[in-house]
Amino acid sequence: MADHQPFPAGARRGERPAAVSACPSCGDLAGRGYPECRFCAELVDQAWLQDWQALLAAEQLSEGGSGERELAELVLDDDEIGRFSWTCTDWAMTLVRCSHCASEPATGPLDCVRCSMAEATRWSWDHSGTPDVITPEDHALRVARAVLRAPHRHRAVVASTWRLLIPFLLVGELATTGQIQRVRAHVLAGHYEELAACATHVQLTGLPELYWRRDDSHRGDHQVRLDHPPPPREAEADQVPTEA
Ligand SMILES: [Zn+2]
Ligand SMILES: [Zn+2]
Repeated sequence: MADHQPFPAGARRGERPAAVSACPSCGDLAGRGYPECRFCAELVDQAWLQDWQALLAAEQLSEGGSGERELAELVLDDDEIGRFSWTCTDWAMTLVRCSHCASEPATGPLDCVRCSMAEATRWSWDHSGTPDVITPEDHALRVARAVLRAPHRHRAVVASTWRLLIPFLLVGELATTGQIQRVRAHVLAGHYEELAACATHVQLTGLPELYWRRDDSHRGDHQVRLDHPPPPREAEADQVPTEA
């Protein structure tokens, strides 16, 4: 193995889309068709894939080769947290199968214990407060991607809210906890289609607060529950909620 920097930063290679645009393939805002729409999937996944390709090159392995899967297993088995970037951890998960349910790890049925363990391990790589490793924007994008790869493991409103937000996360627009809660309240109220028609982040996150949410939305600004098990060493990783 080549030497690895501790806590290497992820998602710093290549260009991000400069502006939100419609996907030429599925017609929704680009990214929102993730992962079913191939164009949306490539757009979202490119930051992950570029890091993985760099790791492959450093290990003198080729994509699709027999060594790639072994490398993925090594990355996931590694108990030295922070040896590989979070993007490589995520990508490695797409290259192996859950030993219990045979799905991609963390995407199997809710009662698969091994998938739950894989999910928890992934978030032990959560380094909020170290934006040189993962920015709040990238953390939100990471959460959105993980939720959309396994929407059945989350409440429908959570998956829908991340689906609405992901085109804006891709261009670096981060919604605040309060804004995300407002979007979620509108999803719960059955307004998904109207929300999906918002062409800008300002429109989407600037919707009026729903009256019945007003009481607890204030409290919610300070009490954001994570939608995945909190990282073991970071109990207050609430800066970017995974569940608004
Ligand atoms: Zn698409
Ligand atoms: Zn499983």
